[in-house]
Amino acid sequence: MANLRNIPSIDDLLARPEIQSKLSVYRREFIVDVLRQAVNELREELRKSKQTYDKEQISNLILHRADKILSTAVSGSLKRVINATGVVLHTNLGRAPLSDQAFQYMQAAAQKYNNLEFDLDEGVRGSRYDHVEDLLTRLTGAEGALVVNNNAAAVLLGLSTIAQGREVIVSRGQLIEIGGAFRIPEVMKASGARLVEVGTTNRTYLKDYEAAINEETALLFSAHTSNYKIMGFSEEVGLTDLAEMGQARNIPVMHDLGSGILVDLVDWGLQDEPTVQASIKTGADIVTFSGDKLLGGPQAGIILGRKKYIEQMKKNQLTRALRVDKLTIAALEGTLLEYLCGNPRQNVPVIKMLTMHPEQLREKAEQLKEKLAPKLTGNAQRCKLAVVALEDMVGGGAYPTYRLPGFGVSLAFSGKSLDKAARELRLMEPALLTRKQEDSMLISVRTLLPGDEEEVIRQLAQVLR
Ligand SMILES: *Cc1c(COP(=O)(O)O)cnc(C)c1O
Repeated sequence: MANLRNIPSIDDLLARPEIQSKLSVYRREFIVDVLRQAVNELREELRKSKQTYDKEQISNLILHRADKILSTAVSGSLKRVINATGVVLHTNLGRAPLSDQAFQYMQAAAQKYNNLEFDLDEGVRGSRYDHVEDLLTRLTGAEGALVVNNNAAAVLLGLSTIAQGREVIVSRGQLIEIGGAFRIPEVMKASGARLVEVGTTNRTYLKDYEAAINEETALLFSAHTSNYKIMGFSEEVGLTDLAEMGQARNIPVMHDLGSGILVDLVDWGLQDEPTVQASIKTGADIVTFSGDKLLGGPQAGIILGRKKYIEQMKKNQLTRALRVDKLTIAALEGTLLEYLCGNPRQNVPVIKMLTMHPEQLREKAEQLKEKLAPKLTGNAQRCKLAVVALEDMVGGGAYPTYRLPGFGVSLAFSGKSLDKAARELRLMEPALLTRKQEDSMLISVRTLLPGDEEEVIRQLAQVLR
């Protein structure tokens, strides 16, 4: 109890020279708030503590804690992470890192004025949606294009515009949930469209769609089952057949492609994902996909399709609520130009990481091991290093069953538990996210970006010292 009586007042704390110096930098209310939090936290601990402290010791404990609270508060929450997991599109790690060009476009748009909604030729108001529409139609063969906040928004807008108050037919095998609460039935509900399920979980035939069509049918909806695979005794109607039937019955077909890739990656074993161009060519009337998955751009929902539907969507009130900002448009333009007249395999990080040859990765892993070894030898925790073959993943819900043959460095050490070391690495700046395999820590080299390697060496040397 003596401890609690020894807690100084906030005024006493404010008078301390350590705090006085802070008051010249930060607002007084903020510092008072930090001190209160520090006092409250310490009070809780003192209640449980058996040790007694004098007034000076308690003041110092509070000041020490306040320092920590302050530095956490002002360092911001969104931190750089080095991704050594080998998962290229890690939704928890912000999905696609942008290309240099995308970043340059974005930076220019961020710090200067621009013609976001201004027609420079005519000197009149323009539309923000015009900027990437030409690029998108040129690249994909679609008649029209519209970009919104993300793919969930794209699906919502499409359904709301074309099928509000009417019926949408979906196969039971495609009633998908994407991580983070995107569920087709829920989105359908939010859009005001009525879901009509056909077929079974594992088998749906064209005749099932046929039987469900009536005068209330507004749309045939096909979702790419991007994050799982139904194998064995299963059957889904191909987009070609669905598009053909839609055309014959005069009902539009919407394809939620999910990932949306523009370059054919068959040579790298990635053949399950239809390209955007293929989906358009097949005859889908509306195609939607994410900007920050396999495209490798900023978060966005890209809607492609027949001019008349795109125009209807542009007029929908929802579009205003789902619209993208100038930074997204700029980053997307920078990314798409790379596909039109650049070199995506070289310059779009996601595509580059997906198309690295195992031999290249083995070399990268060898180099990392060579540089790491001298930093870790002679330490008390004897660290065993090895270059190992491992399996990387595309991530972002794409190619759920496909494993990319990769390489990495495995570290086995004693003196510190694997979990403890992994946590310490996560709490560094930048944070390092590693993988665990049995008793070893794995650093997959595929997802290390330029400049990451030096940091990884420094971090591992520090934590395993
Ligand atoms: C990822 C995904 C979505 C959601 O896209 P966001 O851009 O994350 O909103 C929707 N449908 C499919 C098939 C997806 O793969």
